[in-house]
Amino acid sequence: MSNNLLNKTGRIYLKRKVLIIYTGGTIGMAIDPETNSLLSFDFSLIEEKVPEIKRFDFDVNSTSFKPIIDSSDMNPDVWVKLGTIIEDNYNRYDGFVVLHGTDTMAYTASALSFMLQNLGKPVVFTGSQLPLSTIRTDGKENLITALDIASTYENGLAKVPEVCIFFQDKLFRGNRTTKYNAEHFRAFRSDNYPPLAEVGVHVKYNDAYIQKAKEGAVFTFAKKMDNNVGLLKLYPGISYTFLEAVLKAPGLKALVLETFGSGNAPTNKKFLEMIKDAVHGGLIILNVTQCLAGSVAMERYQTGIYLLEMGVHNGGDMTTEAAITKLMYLLGNTIHTDEVKIGLNKSLKGEIYL
Ligand code: ASP
Repeated sequence: MSNNLLNKTGRIYLKRKVLIIYTGGTIGMAIDPETNSLLSFDFSLIEEKVPEIKRFDFDVNSTSFKPIIDSSDMNPDVWVKLGTIIEDNYNRYDGFVVLHGTDTMAYTASALSFMLQNLGKPVVFTGSQLPLSTIRTDGKENLITALDIASTYENGLAKVPEVCIFFQDKLFRGNRTTKYNAEHFRAFRSDNYPPLAEVGVHVKYNDAYIQKAKEGAVFTFAKKMDNNVGLLKLYPGISYTFLEAVLKAPGLKALVLETFGSGNAPTNKKFLEMIKDAVHGGLIILNVTQCLAGSVAMERYQTGIYLLEMGVHNGGDMTTEAAITKLMYLLGNTIHTDEVKIGLNKSLKGEIYL
């Protein structure tokens, strides 16, 4: 069947197709009246819950994980499963909307931004704080706008050929986003990168900040992620035994170190020696800040200069979510440690300002 339609001026246009992939999370839940707890509903009935979907001038199909999962259970295997659905359907659809629990959405969106290579189509993540089945749900507007964005093309090219997160009124680059509020409908922020679009009466795209698809580049999916990556948040009074246990964790190849302010850490000799030994032993350490906004600048204070001298890498303004998944991706897709280090000093998918 042809996908071409006539518009009001009699010109032929292509009827776009968007695939919804439901992975789990609050958006697709229903409240059990007896226990008041959340249960999943049959996602094939999505058009019943959101009849507005039928009014779009593009086709919408949906598929659901079986079983669906709370996003707390996300892991690299599930990212591969999700990416494979996109890969298998890449030529059949013009855009993808991924419905995902909000808790780890920023991790999955970051991971997929590295795994999906030469993306030429939108992959828009969304979810909700209240299920679609509740009267005050935020899920309906999130889903409808995410679908709108995923279907938007201009001169034959996708408006946002990126992995992104749409929530409440903003479209963010996925690997720049963090969940910061467990209650508000505005649950996500991206303090170090402007929104790709702002949504009110109109959807206003910030074209200057949207990455363009590479012309002629072929879409591929990198399936390997190496999870021998750790995360350590520094705090005043951190004990040496704890630090040692982390730095010497069997199999650990890389560590994201969440430091204070602009990349600062304690300056006492013992702490610095332990970091130095770990780096000399081959551990890759990436310095990101605990602050939501701003960047690591290790050369600013003596406390950061020591880390720099020891071979700790500068994570700049990257989110923790992007830092962890970038390391998993680099370790999984390179042979030599040097290649990982080169990758860390580059922006792969707009995740860092350099
Ligand atoms: N626990 C849920 C999840 O992340 C919360 C949500 O969907 O917002 O899967």
